[in-house]
Amino acid sequence: TPPGPDVLTAHGLVRHFGGLRAVDGVDLTVPPRQVTAVIGPNGAGKSTLFHCLAGAQRPDEGRIRFRGRDITRLPDHRRARLGIARTFQVVSVFPSLTVADNLRVGAENRAGASAAARLLGLPDAAGGRTRQAVERALELAELTDVADVPAGRLPTGTLRLVELGRALAADPSVLLLDEPASGLDDAETARMRALLRRLAGEGLAVLLVEHDMELVFGVADTVYVMAAGRVVASGTPDAVRDDPAARAAYLDPLAGD
Ligand code: ADP
Ligand code: MG
Repeated sequence: TPPGPDVLTAHGLVRHFGGLRAVDGVDLTVPPRQVTAVIGPNGAGKSTLFHCLAGAQRPDEGRIRFRGRDITRLPDHRRARLGIARTFQVVSVFPSLTVADNLRVGAENRAGASAAARLLGLPDAAGGRTRQAVERALELAELTDVADVPAGRLPTGTLRLVELGRALAADPSVLLLDEPASGLDDAETARMRALLRRLAGEGLAVLLVEHDMELVFGVADTVYVMAAGRVVASGTPDAVRDDPAARAAYLDPLAGD
């Protein structure tokens, strides 16, 4: 991959737990301006792949590159500094902080603002940029109306958006989302889809990992279907919908879910 484009790639990724190959030789490209989805039944290896891409787990084999640079061994906080932001499958917002302050945490993670300066209430150089990034993320995630509400008072659906807003406040070029629609009702899911399309339209490389096959079809440009650690099908949603291997992955009763 030539350096320059904000493209994240994985080549030959393997991650095992004892004798189990949770991720078993996965190749994947997450290009800018697109929504890329990884789907598959429970236990397929989606979350393990996700953790390898985000830097929370180290693959046993294979390479991960970003803008042509090998980041396979780079820890998660260093990936965040490069512009690779993630959300969590289980919502992990700070309940006592306002929505805006939750987003500020995300912005400061990227900007590297001094925690000491912050605690002492001192002005810091990154402050102005942080404020702008928070405003922008509030607007993007449609959270401006609840900016001053403590996150703990908001319903789950809104917390998913807070979590996404926090990732956006870091001004990422790659956004990694683990089951972003879990716990959302139909209206909230539609809102999430529209938001992901908008983010891709603005140039982000969006990757989402999701167990619900139908859910991703309205939003993804490219779909990878995983089963037992491997990619068994990939392509456009239409191509994948008709792919026998993709269907088998979901129909196989041993595949779970
Ligand atoms: P998915 O997200 O597609 O449901 P996971 O990546 O969570 O799949 O899991 C893939 C396989 O790896 C499963 O069989 C799971 O039990 C196993 N696994 C995941 N994490 C661990 C772990 N930390 N230790 C042992 N086995 C794990
Ligand atoms: Mg999972």
